[in-house]
Amino acid sequence: LLAPARCAAAVGTAAPKVEGGGRRSSEQGQLAVAPARLVDELVEEALVWSSQHGLVVGDKNHPRSGKAPGVGLLHAPFALLPMSFSKVYWDQAVELAPLFNELVDRVSLDGDFLQETLARTKEVDSFTGRLLDIHAKMMKLNRKEDVRLGLTRSDYMVDGATDQLLQVELNTISTSSNGLACGVCELHRNLIRQHERELGLDPESVVGNTAIAQHAEALAGAWAEFNNQRFSVVLVVVQPEERDGLPVAVVYFRAGYTPNDYPSEAEWRARLLIECSSAIKCPSIAHHLVGTKKIQQELAKENVLERFLDNKADIEKVRKCFAGLWSLENDSIVMSAIESPELFVLKPQREGGGNNIYGDNLRETLISLKKDGSNELAAYILMQRIFPPASLCYLVRDGTCIRENAVSEFGIFGAYLRNKDRVIINDQCGYLMRTKAASLNEGGVVAGYAFLNSVFLT
Ligand code: ADP
Ligand code: MG
Ligand code: MG
Repeated sequence: LLAPARCAAAVGTAAPKVEGGGRRSSEQGQLAVAPARLVDELVEEALVWSSQHGLVVGDKNHPRSGKAPGVGLLHAPFALLPMSFSKVYWDQAVELAPLFNELVDRVSLDGDFLQETLARTKEVDSFTGRLLDIHAKMMKLNRKEDVRLGLTRSDYMVDGATDQLLQVELNTISTSSNGLACGVCELHRNLIRQHERELGLDPESVVGNTAIAQHAEALAGAWAEFNNQRFSVVLVVVQPEERDGLPVAVVYFRAGYTPNDYPSEAEWRARLLIECSSAIKCPSIAHHLVGTKKIQQELAKENVLERFLDNKADIEKVRKCFAGLWSLENDSIVMSAIESPELFVLKPQREGGGNNIYGDNLRETLISLKKDGSNELAAYILMQRIFPPASLCYLVRDGTCIRENAVSEFGIFGAYLRNKDRVIINDQCGYLMRTKAASLNEGGVVAGYAFLNSVFLT
């Protein structure tokens, strides 16, 4: 068999081994080591399907991309075949989703807890500081949000050493990629259906993804709770100073999670204005703050979950997925991280990927922060580095397929809608499976590291 040029060349390896269709690799691995000719055919079909069904993103290399509609689009980076994923982990993540939704909401109601936990971080991280200032103003005004809407995503990796599903982080703002995640799931189902015999896989085992529909439903649900149905609108914040002539029922923040989204005081004033308004915010400033890495770390401390959750069994389930998390006030952990930086991830209070510090860089950062005796340590947390089991995957970017040893991160979307004591929605809402080269540290799709994938339940 001929090596498909596009497939093998990019990694400089031989053509994919012909081991017959439909073979399943290890528990976590991507499905099927497919014959080379078949891989080539699948890549071609997948690329065409992506263009035809809108599985596309902006092309950074195109000057008019993002400025002119329909111009400068490129297929989203995707794994060619779904990732096999054990039902045990799937069930665990699904069960945890409503617990984390509830936890986010309860923590968000404890203003003092948020202010106290983030107080030291505030001194050295002005972005988190500005968010806390808005939050403090709301506390002073004694603002109570009756209707609260959370569209969340809890991300996990399987720890190869212990086979445990461990939480990477809990996102409470701009939990993106739900549309693309649904798209890649349809792509995989379609490819497997077309090649069912050669691949020997059941397309029905690709778990359907409901992320887009369920998140839209939750937004609509919040809009209905606003009780001004005839005239009110949903405002999606994508650019500073967007305006509407109608009452805003729901504000959805697709932007606002990074300092780059606040280039001037005008954006901070807009954020404050929105927070003061009667609109339902997704997320409110408090929900946003609950999603910080610092709060994640604080919740993992002994007896902190007990402040927010009542049911002992639920607390155990939540705690079980916590990886090692430490504040940098813990001197012995800082020393361990300096000695063995490869076992840790150093995280600032940022979202969107590409912000974490690893390896030698981590060691040097810690040494210099310690030397200065600076408060800047409070800007970060340390986390146990998770090492998911790796397997060979076909990954497609820019029209080129490579075969790469890869690991995956699995996120489950959630929706939470509440009006005073009435919980209207508390649900898991589809998923995001991302696969990246095992040699890489970071993992975002948009950040350019990871590939969209879907779940093949085993
Ligand atoms: P962000 O909010 O920017 O997405 P994350 O905490 O999710 O921040 O970190 C970004 C990426 O870094 C993750 O998608 C994952 O690939 C990697 N990463 C984060 N924490 C860990 C960890 N503890 N072990 C291994 N990889 C991690
Ligand atoms: Mg995040
Ligand atoms: Mg993340």
